[in-house]
Amino acid sequence: MQVIDAEHELAEQVQSWKYHNKTIAFVPTMGNLHQGHLSLINKAKELADKVIISIFVNPLQFDNNADLSAYPRTIDQDLALLMPLQCDLVFIPNAQKMYPNGMAQQTLVTVPDTDDKLCGKYRTGHFGGVATVVAKLFNMVQADIAVFGEKDYQQLLVIKKMVADLSMPIQIIPAPTLREDNGLAMSSRNQYLTEAQRQQASGIYQVLEQARNKIQQGDRNYPQLQQDAYAQLEQMGFEPEYFDIRRAEDLELAQQGDMELRLLVAAKLGKARLIDNMACNLA
Ligand code: AMP
Repeated sequence: MQVIDAEHELAEQVQSWKYHNKTIAFVPTMGNLHQGHLSLINKAKELADKVIISIFVNPLQFDNNADLSAYPRTIDQDLALLMPLQCDLVFIPNAQKMYPNGMAQQTLVTVPDTDDKLCGKYRTGHFGGVATVVAKLFNMVQADIAVFGEKDYQQLLVIKKMVADLSMPIQIIPAPTLREDNGLAMSSRNQYLTEAQRQQASGIYQVLEQARNKIQQGDRNYPQLQQDAYAQLEQMGFEPEYFDIRRAEDLELAQQGDMELRLLVAAKLGKARLIDNMACNLA
């Protein structure tokens, strides 16, 4: 497993693989790897000859400096976790090399209709930062496919739209959310939770499941279901930002007659901001 921090070394390796007709799959991450990340890497391994993982805590996507500096950076632990997976290359750029002229001078990729809904509304500039770094990484890595987790469902749609709108020659593959036994979606941010809060945090999954069950049993009063789920989260001790029932395809508010829905939630618990989502198909 090669560990590379220089863009030109990455380019040389990629060029050589392409010369030998190897297909390349890419898994971008911010590190502090857990089983959820590893499941993406395993999927990538099934789909291509070579797998590249990037580890980069992207300052451009943080709207809050305290959040950025607190984000867990555990490179040695990450490399130890990656070793048995036999992935081919880990790319670990640094912020100075990614944004040599500073973030204020950086050309940005803007995906429309994202800043006014769900996480976009609560994290100013977040998805512009995500789209920009992913576009940059795609250009550096030149992969055939990239695997993204459904855990960050809005992010997955933002990336898919960017790729379609800018005709980027890469295929985006979604991968399902890995959860703890109690239903809590695995996340680097779960580290901010105490043991008791980790148990409490499974409430998010329970509330998602309950709302989905009600819809599947015929309840179509989406505004009321959203309100009830939000209130339930508050009763459980969360500080919810949103609990929304949306159309899976474009994350517009769900209407009667929509068949493929996505239930999405963001809620704070102690020091952690947790997000989760669940599919609800009525077909
Ligand atoms: P992050 O390091 O949080 O930026 O995540 C890197 C990739 O891993 C993204 O595509 C995430 O959606 C994905 N991911 C994060 N948590 C999980 C999880 N619990 N299950 C599956 N994929 C995940």
